Amino acid sequence: MTSTITTAAGTTDNVGGLDLGPAVALSCRECGNRVDLGPYYACSECFGPLEVSYEFTLAREELRRAIERGPQNIWRYAPLLPVPAGIADTPNINPGCTKLVRADNLARELGLKRLWVKDDSGNPTHSFKDRVVAVALAAARELGFSVLACPSTGNLANAVAAAAARAGIRSVVLIPSNLEQQKILTTAAYGGTLVAVEGNYDDINRLAGEIAAEQDDWAFVNVNVRPYYAEGSKTLAYEVAEQLGWRLPQQVVVPIASGAQLVKIDKGFTELGNLGLVEPTPYRVFGAQATGCAPVAHAFKDGHDTVRPVRPDTIAKSLAIGNPADGPYVLDTVRRTGGAIEDVSDDEVIEGIKLLARTEGIFAETAGGVTVATLRKLLATGQLDPEAETVIFNTGDGLKTLDAIADVVGPTATIAPTLKAFDAAGLA
Ligand SMILES: *Cc1c(COP(=O)(O)O)cnc(C)c1O
Ligand SMILES: [Zn+2]
Repeated sequence: MTSTITTAAGTTDNVGGLDLGPAVALSCRECGNRVDLGPYYACSECFGPLEVSYEFTLAREELRRAIERGPQNIWRYAPLLPVPAGIADTPNINPGCTKLVRADNLARELGLKRLWVKDDSGNPTHSFKDRVVAVALAAARELGFSVLACPSTGNLANAVAAAAARAGIRSVVLIPSNLEQQKILTTAAYGGTLVAVEGNYDDINRLAGEIAAEQDDWAFVNVNVRPYYAEGSKTLAYEVAEQLGWRLPQQVVVPIASGAQLVKIDKGFTELGNLGLVEPTPYRVFGAQATGCAPVAHAFKDGHDTVRPVRPDTIAKSLAIGNPADGPYVLDTVRRTGGAIEDVSDDEVIEGIKLLARTEGIFAETAGGVTVATLRKLLATGQLDPEAETVIFNTGDGLKTLDAIADVVGPTATIAPTLKAFDAAGLA
């Protein structure tokens, strides 16, 4: 199949000549139909979602050396991503290589033997979205797009605006108008076009699809270049395995919005096993949702294969996707690996944020609160093995969702600037 992309600069032929590293095709997750690499996201046969297929040519030792010699960011895994080999030398915000924190205090409190927090609040715009946007941007440039765009629940807005600024291209970001002030301001600060839409994420996502059909030089990272974007989440799996000394954890707990992150963490672990970079030891994948937006958790508990959309109502706005694109694949992954999906109330989310901060000194956004609270619930209900090595993913920074805890934390006391007042307050 040959394709033509129209760009601002004119028309580029020869999509087959793209340099997207080891990526060789897009294939349909439903029917297996393969198409050439290009700006496609839906199967022409069955409308199923397309994903990137690879031919990895490096041998195990060579690959491991290349990775270990690589830069301290996601581009060390460029030989496993749909990006050009020289990607690390292009202007981008270089996310990744975030800390894997051994969480002994939290583990002790919960009765777990060994626990780590993969802390993605350390990314350039303080959420895991920098990973997916960096890969989407690399592919978008290769595909000839000139504008980086997205519909966002918040963190993606930050990541797209920052990545486009650094790359010197225009960004167009659509957000729900009721988004947290912290996320609006931290997006607007990068310049670019920021559009507040009076609707929820699912409304905005639909609008983005319509705009994408009209503006053919705009790459909507999570719409028309979604297959490439989603691959960025594999780097979470690669980093965890490398940081553990090239081995897989036994259990992971991952927050679910669209579900792409969870599905791609599994894809990353599977690839590492197939490539011989780790022993292909068994692991279980667990999903976390907020009860106010838990369509995948409900489908899991009800034994369904499909996900019935909901209207989100939760403080965990970064996870508030009522109609998650990867829902069915999350169900497959979790069931295949012997995991489970739980959901937690907004009060439990706040408790989760406070628990992680108090025990490990990590201040998570609401999504991280969902994950910690879900970890606790999975343990309390006997679904998670307290003896097995567990990694949870903190995907965003608490500074971005201050509203969520504004009413429940604050100064221990407010006093006059005198020793007498301090002593009287009983703080010693
Ligand atoms: C987007 C997001 C997620 C989930 O991502 P999906 O791949 O859509 O499931 C998790 N945590 C945070 C903080 C996010 O912004
Ligand atoms: Zn198909």
